[in-house]
Amino acid sequence: VKNAYAKRVAWYEDSMSEKLENEAKLLLEVKQALKNREFVPYWQPQCSTRTGRIVGLEALVRWQHPERGIVMPGAFIPVLERNGFIASLDLYVWDEVCRNLRSWIDRGNRPIPVSVNISRADLYAIDVVETLEDLVSTYGLDHRLLELEITESAYAEDRKMAEAVRQLKALGFTILMDDFGSGYSSLNMLKDITVDVLKIDMGFLNREDDTQRSESILEAVVSMARLMDLRIIAEGAETKEQVDFLQEIGCDYAQGYYFHRPMDTEQIEALLGQPNAV
Ligand code: C2E
Ligand code: CA
Ligand code: CA
Ligand code: CA
Repeated sequence: VKNAYAKRVAWYEDSMSEKLENEAKLLLEVKQALKNREFVPYWQPQCSTRTGRIVGLEALVRWQHPERGIVMPGAFIPVLERNGFIASLDLYVWDEVCRNLRSWIDRGNRPIPVSVNISRADLYAIDVVETLEDLVSTYGLDHRLLELEITESAYAEDRKMAEAVRQLKALGFTILMDDFGSGYSSLNMLKDITVDVLKIDMGFLNREDDTQRSESILEAVVSMARLMDLRIIAEGAETKEQVDFLQEIGCDYAQGYYFHRPMDTEQIEALLGQPNAV
């Protein structure tokens, strides 16, 4: 028994140290990639379910790796969140977003709000409130142009986040609660909610099983949001049937592949330039 146990522990330690080694390697690569400006924002439109017109964009980071091509955030964000380095990346992304907003305005385009993602780990690495306030003032942007996405779990489980949200709202930023309905705390949290927009988790639209129940929940959440004067965006709308359903139950906005996939800066500029896009 003792031997088997020792083996198991040895195996466990090996894979743990391997994992840590890989994470450390990734962290070094990310630091270098930041210097080389290999990270870029992609842009995914948020659209009216009735007209398809674009009402906002979400910035989603991509790593344009010189050898591996486009690397999706799922491959590096969780690691960066664990070691706190996410703040350096987020700061870079937020800056890129503001820089693009400024340049769109300077070129005479009607500005459209862009939302960025904030991780809970950001709060422990930088002063998020001061950083965001500095950014909008440096680039001379209206606070309403930079919207902030915070996940339901980060908001619910961390007093520090709730306090940051309160301050950011007081400064005039718009707050979106991301992945709403994916946690367990939703209803309780709504008692003292201070956000402006609920982004309904895509799990409600894209369920193979129990579609009926998911649809009933969606419908109830939309009615509740209306009573509470909250804007609502459904995430992950992929089909015409889903968009028709959203329209039917009074969900005015959606973000998903049915309308547009996330795209690079050149593509979003071409899209926004089309007549009736916005
Ligand atoms: P999220 O904030 O919930 O972003 C939505 C994700 O859903 C994006 O994945 C988007 O590409 C994907 N998506 C959009 N429409 C559809 C659809 O119709 N169907 C399906 N199946 N998926 C759809 P992405 O870009 O891979 O990002 C994954 C997550 O990584 C994001 O989830 C967010 O939590 C995080 N993330 C992305 N960029 C940043 C960033 O700059 N900073 C931080 N802190 N997190 C980020
Ligand atoms: Ca988001
Ligand atoms: Ca989401
Ligand atoms: Ca998510």
